[in-house]
Amino acid sequence: MSRRTHFPGRAFRDADAGRSGSRIVLKGWLRSVRALRASEERRRLGEERLALALDSGVEGIWDSNLANGTIWMSERWLARLGYAVDAIEARQPMDHIVHAGDRERLTLAMAEHVRGLTSTCECEHRVVCRDGTSFWVLTRGRVVERDRTGRALRAVGTQIDITHRHEAEARAEYLALHDDLTGLPNRRLLRHRLDRVVMRPREGRSTVAVLTCDLDGFKTVNDTLGHSGGDRLLRIVADRLLQAVGDGGTVARIGGDEFALVLEGLTGPDEADAVAGHVIAVLGAPIEIDGMVVEIGVGIGAAMMPSEAITVDDLLRRADIALYEAKTIGRDTYRLFEPALAARHSSRHLLAFDMKEAIRRGDFFLVYQPVIDLVTDRVTSFEALMRWHHPERGLISPGEFIPVAEETGLIVSLGAWALAEACREAMTWPDEIRVAVNVSTVQFQHDLERSVSSALDGASLSTDRLKLEVTESALMRDPEGVVATLHRLRALGVKIALDDFGTGYSSLSYLRRFPFDKIKIDRAFIKDIAEPDAAAIVRAVVGLGERLGMGIVAEGVETTEQLELVRSEGCDEVQGFLFSRPLPANEVAAYLKSRRVSAAA
Ligand code: C2E
Ligand code: CA
Ligand code: CA
Repeated sequence: MSRRTHFPGRAFRDADAGRSGSRIVLKGWLRSVRALRASEERRRLGEERLALALDSGVEGIWDSNLANGTIWMSERWLARLGYAVDAIEARQPMDHIVHAGDRERLTLAMAEHVRGLTSTCECEHRVVCRDGTSFWVLTRGRVVERDRTGRALRAVGTQIDITHRHEAEARAEYLALHDDLTGLPNRRLLRHRLDRVVMRPREGRSTVAVLTCDLDGFKTVNDTLGHSGGDRLLRIVADRLLQAVGDGGTVARIGGDEFALVLEGLTGPDEADAVAGHVIAVLGAPIEIDGMVVEIGVGIGAAMMPSEAITVDDLLRRADIALYEAKTIGRDTYRLFEPALAARHSSRHLLAFDMKEAIRRGDFFLVYQPVIDLVTDRVTSFEALMRWHHPERGLISPGEFIPVAEETGLIVSLGAWALAEACREAMTWPDEIRVAVNVSTVQFQHDLERSVSSALDGASLSTDRLKLEVTESALMRDPEGVVATLHRLRALGVKIALDDFGTGYSSLSYLRRFPFDKIKIDRAFIKDIAEPDAAAIVRAVVGLGERLGMGIVAEGVETTEQLELVRSEGCDEVQGFLFSRPLPANEVAAYLKSRRVSAAA
C-alpha cells in the first residue's frame, strides 16, 4: 500500500526500538538473524499502528518531504477531497489542494516554523476538492526530521475541517456589518469601505463621491401604513437605489430613512450629478404598498473626494452639509458640497451632524434640579434638564444644542426620549414628587400627546406626576392648536407650567388663554429683584397668578437676599443654585435625604 511504503515514518520506528530494545540480548550470528527479524517485526508493528492512527480520529494526516516537495496524505482525507489514493503524491499537491488565495499565507506559516520562529505551524485556509468546490481547514504541523546542518527534511501534521466554524463566524460578521431589514451594508461597513477608499492612492484621474440621501415623506408612510408598511417601503427604496447605482458603487443604509451611496471610478462631479438626478427620478416613481400608492421624495447631498487628505468623518460631514442645504431648498433636491457651504454651515450644522450620531450612541442624559415649596420647605418636584456629553467637545449645554435640534427636527426624537427617561427616573422617587420636562414648540407639531402617553405608559408613572414646561413661543406660533393640545394633555391629568415668563412679548394675554398650573418667572427678573421695576413686575405676576389660581415659581434664585425678596413678594416655589444645581440622576436620593435631615435638625 502506497501509504506504508512512501514515508516509512522514522519517528515511529525509533520509538519502538526504545521500548523493545531490552529483548535484544543474543550474541553472534544468531543475534544478528534475530535482530533482523525483530527489526522487521518492529517495522511491521509500527506501520500497523500508524495505519490504525490514520484511519481513526483525525480526518486528515499529511507527511511532507520538504526536500523534494512531495506530500503524502491519508487515504480518508484524499477521499474527502475527491482524489484517488495515488493521485496526489509525487506531484506538487500544494498547487492543487490549497486554494490559490491562501497559498502564500500557508507557505509563510510553514517557512516561519521551519526557521524555528514558531513551535508548530498553524494556518487556516481553504482546500480545493477535485470537483472544484472548496472548504475551510485548519492545518497544523511540525518538522520531525532535520539533517546535520539543521535543514528541515520532513514535516508531519493534520488537517481538520473547520467549515462550520467559519460559516458561523462569517454569519456573525455579516450581521454586524449589514442592516437587518434591507440586507444593505450598515454605517459600520460603509465606514470600513470608505476607510479603504480614503487611504488608497488616487488612480489616475478617477475620483470618488459620497452621496447621502434622506427620504422626504417617509414618516407619513410609516404613520399611515404602520411599521410593516414602512419596512416594505424601505426595502423597495433599497432595491431601487441598488439598481440606480449599478456595479460601480456601494449602497448603505445609515439610519432610519437615510441611505448613503459611494460611487467609485468617476471622472468628475458631472457623473455624481447624473447619478443623483437618476436616484431622484427612480425614487419619485409611485410605489404600491398594500394596494395603496405612495409617493416619496429624496434630498441628496454629495461630496467629492478632494485632492488633499481627508478623514472619513470629514467626507461624510461634507456630504451631510450638502444634504442639509438640499433639504432646506426643498423636496427632491440635490446639492454638491463646496467650501462656501461649509463656511455658511459653521459649527452649528456640524453640531447637527454630530447630534444624529449622539442620539444613536446615547450620549444625551438628563440632570434634575429641585423645586422647593416656600411654605413647607419641601421639594415638590425636579426639573429635568438635558445635557450632551460630546466625545470631543465635552459637555454641551442645552442653550447651544436645543436650537439646533429644533431647527433640524431632531428635537422630536430627542424630546420623546427625554420624556420617557424622565418618567422612568421619577418612578424611583417618593410618590409626592413630580418631574417637570421642558417641551419645545416643534414637538407640538409632531404628536406631542403620543410621546407623552407612551412615556407615561412605558414608565407606569401616574399622569399627575408629570409636569410639562412650555414657553410663550409655543403659544405664539399656533395659539389654537397648542391650546387645544394642552387642554387634552391636562384632561389626562398632566400638569402644565408656563416657562420663562416675562421674556416674551405679550405674556399677560397668554395667561388668559389657558389655565396653567404654574407660572415660572424668568431668571432675569429674579436677578434684578432688588430693583424696584423688577420687583413691581414680580408683584404684578404674583397678583395675577393668585387671581387665576396659578402657582408662582421663581427661577434662578442664587442668594439668600433674593430668596427673602421672592418670599416677601409672595412666590410659592423657588428653584436655583442657592438650593441646588441640577443633579445627576444618581444624586437625587441623597439630596432628598440630606434635606430631610436638615429639616429635622
Ligand atoms: P429653563 O427651562 O429656563 O431651565 C432653567 C435653566 O436655568 C437651566 O439651564 C438651569 O441650569 C439654569 N439655572 C437654574 N438655576 C439657576 C441659577 O440659580 N442661576 C443660573 N444662572 N442658572 C440657573 P440649562 O440646564 O442650561 O437649560 C437651559 C435651557 O435649555 C432651559 O431653560 C430650557 O429652555 C432648555 N432645555 C433644557 N433641557 C431641555 C429639554 O429636555 N427639552 C427642551 N425642549 N428644552 C430644554
Ligand atoms: Ca424649564
Ligand atoms: Ca425657565
